[in-house]
Amino acid sequence: MIEGYSFTMERVPDNYCVDDPEIKEVQDMDSGAILTVQDVIGADKDRLIRLRMNLAEAGEEREDKYTCPICGVGVYLVCRRRGDEKRFYFRHRVEIGNCPAVTREPLSKEEIEARKYNGAKESRAHIRMKEILAESISRDPDFSDLQIEKVWKGMERATWRKPDVSAVWRNKIRVAFEVQLSTTFLHVIAQRRVFYRNQGGLLCWVFKTFDIEAARMTQEDIFHNNNRNLFLASEKTLRASKECGALMLDCRWAEPKAGSEAVSWGWNGRLAAFSEMTLDQNGQRVFLSDRDSLDASEIHAADESVFKKRFAAWWASGDRGDAEWESFRREFRRRRVILPRWPREATGVLNALYTAKEGRPVGWDHPKFISAAHTVAGSHKKVLRAFRAALRAYGRASQIKAEDAEGRWARKVAAYKEKLAARDPDYERDRNFDSLIAYLFPETWSILSREEEV
Ligand SMILES: [Zn+2]
Repeated sequence: MIEGYSFTMERVPDNYCVDDPEIKEVQDMDSGAILTVQDVIGADKDRLIRLRMNLAEAGEEREDKYTCPICGVGVYLVCRRRGDEKRFYFRHRVEIGNCPAVTREPLSKEEIEARKYNGAKESRAHIRMKEILAESISRDPDFSDLQIEKVWKGMERATWRKPDVSAVWRNKIRVAFEVQLSTTFLHVIAQRRVFYRNQGGLLCWVFKTFDIEAARMTQEDIFHNNNRNLFLASEKTLRASKECGALMLDCRWAEPKAGSEAVSWGWNGRLAAFSEMTLDQNGQRVFLSDRDSLDASEIHAADESVFKKRFAAWWASGDRGDAEWESFRREFRRRRVILPRWPREATGVLNALYTAKEGRPVGWDHPKFISAAHTVAGSHKKVLRAFRAALRAYGRASQIKAEDAEGRWARKVAAYKEKLAARDPDYERDRNFDSLIAYLFPETWSILSREEEV
């Protein structure tokens, strides 16, 4: 402690917001995002003081950084002092006295959402998105009668109905484009669909950003409604639209992917012209990739792929308990694939074909790939035809040649080829494994089965 100075310790709260603010959320008019006042006010006092100054200055220029999401009036920061403690809250720049946030007028959840939704339309980001869409559409000769909604300063927020941008597509149908800055208001989509269907129009939602997490959460409602397609517009799509002389959008769609344990959903996408898309007025859908019809077969394929990977990993582990084998047998049988009674009966065929597929010994402790090949030719003659087909299917010829420095394998091949040609019964394929080979190694099976026909 320095002599002669005394300190009054100012209490630092977790958050400088007052405990019960009247205005609980504000809208960022750059991004359109709705933020809690606690998030905006925060615990950093220096930042807060600067923000307070900025908001005061913005007000002078009539460019509000934050507005009340319920009534749309600009807000500024007020400091409330109690003893040594300073706390802050937001106040309407103009107190007209009719904001439900202040008057505590009871509003339904839908009304509040509609007001917030329309508030986002006044943000700079939203206005820019409308410009991008309108300019892109104006470059596309397939569109006519372009209409752009004005910015609705002071309109009654709860009564919105008009789309951001609309135009007639190929003299057939009016397409209404609605901008969404984020996935916050995705639920609004479902409500609007009925309206546009009845109007004979088609509603197309265009997003600014794509939040995978939010997309997953709302997938049930929204993406299923639009065939799991969604569209983004940006400065990039505007440039593409100008270059192509057509409305170009960044299309994203969900598709199933096979992991090692389960099927997960991934996203795919590309730039696409509006003319490439399917318009479904009755279903109120606009989509590039027809997920609804593809998904059943894709999900099935992904499921099968997961099962095959699971079995391959279990087999490669070498720890082959009879109980697990029996359980796999049942799963294979459901797929009309026959496994023998015991794992050891399948050792030759599975080791040989997994080895060929992987390009390294699977199930055998051999140091090299070619050692496994010698084992097949020597000890599993009935699997040799399938193994040879697999070597071709997985392109192992050069690998085996490279490992055959002394030419032992080449001499062995010359010897057994004669026996194969003479249909020596020792080398005849065990037909009991046909369904297994066809299912687990379809590339091998297609070569093997063609050989048989000759
Ligand atoms: Zn208000």
